[in-house]
Amino acid sequence: MFKCKDCGDLDCDYDDDIAGPPRNCGDCGAKPEEQHDPNCDVQRCSACSGQRLMDGCEDHDPELTKWTGYWPGVREAAELKVCLNCLQTKLRKEGKPFPLR
Ligand SMILES: [Zn+2]
Ligand SMILES: [Zn+2]
Ligand SMILES: [Zn+2]
Repeated sequence: MFKCKDCGDLDCDYDDDIAGPPRNCGDCGAKPEEQHDPNCDVQRCSACSGQRLMDGCEDHDPELTKWTGYWPGVREAAELKVCLNCLQTKLRKEGKPFPLR
């Protein structure tokens, strides 16, 4: 558990999450290394790196966005000590895509 360096959010427990064993996807129940259900709201879009649900990109490849056992972006967020929202803002500012898995 840490405090987000950018916004001060106190609920960043991603480092605890990634220290634990991999879990099944909290939304669609995919096991680690399985593809998400097409209606899963955790899955990212491989074409635009946005949220896949309701996303219309036709060249999305579900192989690239398989569930790893951890929420997409938590490893990067824990490394930078920021919350997922701030990670997204930061990556967008830097012109980098949000992690797909
Ligand atoms: Zn934050
Ligand atoms: Zn899922
Ligand atoms: Zn997309």
